Amino acid sequence: MKGKIGVSSDNLFPIIKKFLYSDHDIFLREIISNAVDATQKLKTVAAAGKFKGSVADLKVGITLNKEAKTITVSDNGIGMSSEEIEKFINQIAFSGANEFLEKYKDDANAIIGHFGLGFYSSFMVSEEVEIITRSYKEGAQPVRWICDGSPEYVIEEVEKAEVGTDIIMHINSDSVEFLEENRITELLNKYCKFLPVPIVFGKKKEWKEGKYEDTAEDNQINEVIPAWTKKPVDLKDEDYSDFYHKLYPYGDEPLFHIHLNVDYPFNLTGILYFPKLKNNFEVQKNKIQLYCNQVFVTDSVEGIVPEFLTLLHGVIDSPDIPLNVSRSYLQSDSNVRKISGHITKKVADRLTEIFKENRTEFEEKWNDLKLFIEYGMLTDEKFYDRALKFYVFQNTDGKSFTWEEYENIISANQTDKDKKLVYLYATNKEEQYGFIEAAKGKGYDVLLMNDVLATPLLNHFEQKFPEKHFVRVDADVVDKLIAKENSSENLLTLDEKNELSPVFQSITPKERGQFIIDFQDLGETGMPMIITQNEFMRRMKDMSKMQNGMSFYGDLPDSYNLVVNITHPLVKRIIAQKHEKLETELAPTIKEISKFKQEKESLNKLKEGKKDDEISQEEKDLLKETENKISELEESKRKKLEAFGAENELAKELVDLALLSNNMLRGEALNNFVKRSVELMK
Ligand code: ADP
Repeated sequence: MKGKIGVSSDNLFPIIKKFLYSDHDIFLREIISNAVDATQKLKTVAAAGKFKGSVADLKVGITLNKEAKTITVSDNGIGMSSEEIEKFINQIAFSGANEFLEKYKDDANAIIGHFGLGFYSSFMVSEEVEIITRSYKEGAQPVRWICDGSPEYVIEEVEKAEVGTDIIMHINSDSVEFLEENRITELLNKYCKFLPVPIVFGKKKEWKEGKYEDTAEDNQINEVIPAWTKKPVDLKDEDYSDFYHKLYPYGDEPLFHIHLNVDYPFNLTGILYFPKLKNNFEVQKNKIQLYCNQVFVTDSVEGIVPEFLTLLHGVIDSPDIPLNVSRSYLQSDSNVRKISGHITKKVADRLTEIFKENRTEFEEKWNDLKLFIEYGMLTDEKFYDRALKFYVFQNTDGKSFTWEEYENIISANQTDKDKKLVYLYATNKEEQYGFIEAAKGKGYDVLLMNDVLATPLLNHFEQKFPEKHFVRVDADVVDKLIAKENSSENLLTLDEKNELSPVFQSITPKERGQFIIDFQDLGETGMPMIITQNEFMRRMKDMSKMQNGMSFYGDLPDSYNLVVNITHPLVKRIIAQKHEKLETELAPTIKEISKFKQEKESLNKLKEGKKDDEISQEEKDLLKETENKISELEESKRKKLEAFGAENELAKELVDLALLSNNMLRGEALNNFVKRSVELMK
């Protein structure tokens, strides 16, 4: 018998072939899925007592015949009667086909799923497809259906002893790659590894007398009851580990696993693993795999699981995720959002559980976990709230604390005059050694925050807790890290400062950034000079390195403070040297400056109470002249002070020592320092 397939457009097949071209290896998944479904249906029918035969040995077989150029997928499932072929295969009833195909032309999955075109995807690779099938119903007449991809088909009666279906695909000349055993093996491993019915591809092979030979044993591709479909109580740790290595044969041992098992309000099973993360955000090769009733669908799960969870590994299986729609639709689907929220919750719950039950292990693995957890805290508010319970603070002595514990430890000693709690941290134990020691010497505790996300995370914490403050140990001299009382100490007069600043300014390395000279009393035993870096500016620069939008801060030069300890004997010596060398030389200039300043003052007095047009041009010019004179003299004074500084070996030595303890002295500067030091010791 001949017939015509019920489509509204004769163009259907060309369209399918064209639009699905890029993704054509899915045909095997579609045909095998149908075969698996057929075996599952037969089981249901048998359970209802409507099929008397055996369902003990249900399976799907794939055979390649290179000479005949065919791939055959055989199942011993439910089969089809000729009426069913008419109903399920011939009537692809739909409307607006072209419109739909146009809309989804870039998304093969959408077309296939939407129309139940699964079977027809076989035409992407075949010039002709045959169905030989026998229904499970008693006395059913086996039939053969054959179609060459045009809407015309032939259906006829044939002999077939067993219940079930063979789909024979006559591979077209563009698709001969699928006649290669390796290619089919690859596809089977990709899509069928965990299908619930044995998928058999030929026989297992054995190395015999210099070549591979078939053994009697079936070459079963899949594991029919993969770990995620089992109950967690039936699995041991090593089962989870084994399963991980089945998914990712070359992966490192994962840190933890989470077994998902939800049946309300949606269906979701799976196992997620926390992998051992590499210490940067290199794109992970191994990804979460998404399954739909054990059929592999995709490993690009963006939009289905929250972004930070895409760093996890493992399997998610849900019949409730609308897989066959476009990605943008997926992201706005409320079901998907619920699932995503639920996965986040499960992950957080599990981490809380591990933290409570096995805190030591959790802390040991913290270094591998933290990047992932911090990423989650920064990008997912709900996860952030939950994660506060198991977020681990580590201090520079390697001790770990929860938020609460740490707060208790530091609250007595590290609360500043404004009642803010100050968290001190270091980003590098080696480079900030001196500062860490100084802080510890004061009885402070210092955290270690040394990963890429530290800066944004601290910003985030401060936003959440305005009464908490994070300050890096080198942000200021130790006495000022945590301001205890309002100290309005005026160590030097403005004039004194003006005279000393140029001395030290002249020897700061301009190529390293901008230095502000700050005079402090750090005691006779304190360091003579220290370089600090303002917390706010440094953090802004750190952030601008991570995100593009903040380039304003990124473009600014680095800004440091050179803190000069004016009570230190060596600094006092420099000041004395300056006096000795410059006092007589500068005296006339200073005298003149003060003379002109007085003059300026009296000129200004004259102006008082007068409107601009009441002041004579002469007066104005005189004032301008006086001002110019002052700045000229100041300039010449500053030049002399700078020249003194630039020649002062002791001052240079002290600045270099401060740079050295901040790891900022390198190359030529370091070499000069070493040479000078040797000279000074002579
Ligand atoms: P879908 O699987 O989305 O329903 P298909 O075009 O893949 O769409 O298949 C259409 C129908 O044909 C199936 O629903 C099923 O009833 C029937 N069918 C396909 N393959 C088989 C098979 N191997 N055994 C029994 N029935 C099948």
